[in-house]
This record gives sequence, C-alpha cells and structure tokens, in this order.
Amino acid sequence: MDEKLGCSRREFLQRVSMGAGAMMLYPLGSFGSQMLLQERKYYQVWQDLEELPDEEKLGIALVGLGNYASGQLAPALQETKLCRLAGIVTGTPAKEEQWAEQYGIEEGNIYNYENFDEIAGNDDIDIIYVVLPNSMHAEYTIRAAEAGKHVISEKPMATSAADCEAMIEACRDNNRRLSIGYRLHFEPHNEEMMRLGQEEYFGGIQKTDGVHSFDIGNDPDVWRLDAELSGGGPLMDIGIYVIQAAIYTIGEPPVAVTARQETTNQELFSEVEETIEWEMEFPGEMVAHGTSSYSERGNHHRVQADEGWFELEPAYSYTNIQGETQEGPMDFPQVNQQTLQMDAFADHILNGSENRVPGEMGLRDVKILYAIYEAAETGQRVELDL
Ligand code: NDP
Repeated sequence: MDEKLGCSRREFLQRVSMGAGAMMLYPLGSFGSQMLLQERKYYQVWQDLEELPDEEKLGIALVGLGNYASGQLAPALQETKLCRLAGIVTGTPAKEEQWAEQYGIEEGNIYNYENFDEIAGNDDIDIIYVVLPNSMHAEYTIRAAEAGKHVISEKPMATSAADCEAMIEACRDNNRRLSIGYRLHFEPHNEEMMRLGQEEYFGGIQKTDGVHSFDIGNDPDVWRLDAELSGGGPLMDIGIYVIQAAIYTIGEPPVAVTARQETTNQELFSEVEETIEWEMEFPGEMVAHGTSSYSERGNHHRVQADEGWFELEPAYSYTNIQGETQEGPMDFPQVNQQTLQMDAFADHILNGSENRVPGEMGLRDVKILYAIYEAAETGQRVELDL
C-alpha cells in the first residue's frame, strides 16, 4: 500500500493506465528512484523512429578509444538512426589514423586531450561521449559542457558525489543535456524485470539477489586496479549493474546498506577490493543482496516475490541476455543496447523525449557505491537519504 497514493501500486498502475493517453505509467517518488515505467519497451519505440539523413544526425565524438569505445560504441554507432560517429578524442596518435580510415572520420574532427577544448567551435559535433577511466569522467564532462556540447558519461558517473554534482551543474549552467551510459535501461529483458517488479506482477518483492563478477587476470598495471583512476574495484565497475537492477526492479531507492569485503590476493588487490558483498534495505521488508568480484565469475539477477519468482542469467552482458519467470522463459529479441541507448539520448535532445538515464541517476548510484564502501570499512549499517 502506498500511503501517498492511498492504493496499492498495482491498483494505481491500473487506474493511471486507464487514463487517456497516459504515457508514463508509474512516476515513482522522489528523484532518487527516477523509475518511470514505460508503456512500451524501448526497442519497440526505436523500431518506430524514422532514420534521419546523415547530415541531420547528431554528431557524436568518443573520448578515450579503449575496449568499450572500439568494441561496442563505434560499431553501435553504425546502426543508429538519429546520431552518428563524427569525431574522436584520443591520446594515442596511432589510433587517429586507424579510426580515420576505419570510420571515415574527418581530420578536422580528430582531437587529443590537450586541444580538446577547441571542439567548442566544431558544429559537426553535438555530443561528447566520455569513455575514459572513471576518475576522468568529471573533468571531460565539464570541459565538454563548457564547450557547448551535450554529454554522455560512462558509468560509474564519477569517483565522488561532489564530482557528479559538479558535472550536473556544468551541464545545467551551459544548458546542455547529460546522461549516463546505462545501456540496460534499453534492454527488453531488463525492462521486463522493471515491469514485473514495479507492477507487482508476482506480488510484492521480498528479496533480490544479484552477482556480477569476472576474472580480471594478473596484470597489476590495468587502471581498474589503480584506485586513483578507478575510484574502487569491482563494485564501481560491475557491481553498479547489480545495484541498478535491484533499484529498477523494486522501483525505489534503498534506505540503508551493510557490506563486507574480502581480498585474498593482497599483492594484486593492494588498492581496490577483490570481492565485495552487500545488502541494500528498501522501504518495507525488501532486501537486495549483491556480490561483485574480480576473481570469480557470475552474472545474474534473481527476484523472489510473494507469489512467484523471475530472473535473468546472464543479466548484464552486451548480448544473449536470458530471462525466465515461474510461468516460463521470457521471449524478447536481443538488441544492440548501445545503439538504442545513444538514439534515445539523441531523441531526447532533438525531440524532448524523456532522458531515461540522467546525470541525477548517476549521482544517486555514486552515493550508494560510497555508502557500501563505508559500510564495508566500518562494519556499520549506513543509512541513505537519496
Ligand atoms: P580501456 O582501458 O579499454 O580504455 C580506456 C581508454 O581511455 C584508453 O584506451 C585511453 O584511450 C584512454 N585513457 C586516457 N588516459 C588514460 C589512463 N591514464 N589510463 C588508461 N586509459 C586512459 O577501458 P574501457 O573502455 O573498458 O572503460 C572505459 C570506461 O567505460 C570506464 O569508465 C568503464 O567503466 C566504462 N565501461 C562501460 C561499459 C558499459 O557496459 N557501459 C563497459 C566497459 C567499460 P586513448 O588511447 O584513445 O587515449
């Protein structure tokens, strides 16, 4: 029962959806949640988008041409309908030539970290997509906003809440839009988890359990193990998906966290945690348990509700996401998550459609990440006011 609404969430949903032209079915609470359950899954919205001619598409410049930019974002930008890969920003001269050749990037749209601010005068670039190590997101987002560009920052948004706030402020002051690379908000199986959870299809949620772990290998020089660049270990990098999934399934932000961390290889994990486990408490009796590790493997999101269960495994991958409920397997297409995510942001800029993954959501999550670290370090329950 929601006291503010005077009815159960499911009843409220039914009432609202009966209202003429209701697009947003369930505007939940304060920003902290920012979970607006949509009438249609995003791939259905995207199918109906009309592709713009190339010259009308918004130009995106990728900043930091590492694995994610080269393996996922640049290929995804070959399929987008409202935006296109127009520029690059890199500190590695060899990549300039390689990318120019592979993607036909014009010489005038290639920048490095020193001359990046000159991008202000380049009308071919509308959006800067920051794909750098975590602690660099804030600087490049702020510089991009000050250069008059809209921004997508990769997750985690930054390595402190203060940095996130400065990023939001810079975009607001320059009247630019800001979003976070939360691709799973555009993935239909994950959207189905939002629907099943928030509509209480199987009754109220009792608990969720999520794991996202991978084996990082033995190279001590990767930035993910360097606290200054990463801001933390697997929690910041991939545990963030588990936190996100719990929140978008439950549809509200947590009110408190407890946590424990464990490191067996002290040499490799001298700066960041190796494995971390946490519980997020939600209003009522709901609890979300999460685990994330750099020395194990795991990728699932399971939900137990009063009258049934539903789950994804794998839950957070780029493709091949599989879902099942106690009524049977989910049947949704595999989509190019990054294509949909970037087109959704372009649509937001061009047509004022909703920004589903705004900077404020990134800030909320960074506050949760650091509350989990505080809980792990102190052994205390940490309350959140999101
Ligand atoms: P990589 O290490 O593969 O790439 C990072 C790139 O940043 C480098 O190739 C380099 O590009 C540039 N860079 C600039 N300064 C540094 C520095 N001091 N150390 C290392 N690299 C530097 O990382 P990823 O591509 O895996 O991750 C980048 C960001 O994307 C992270 O924030 C990560 O969390 C996020 N990410 C998000 C994913 C998602 O699913 N949404 C998936 C994977 C990553 P150059 O040579 O061009 O200068």
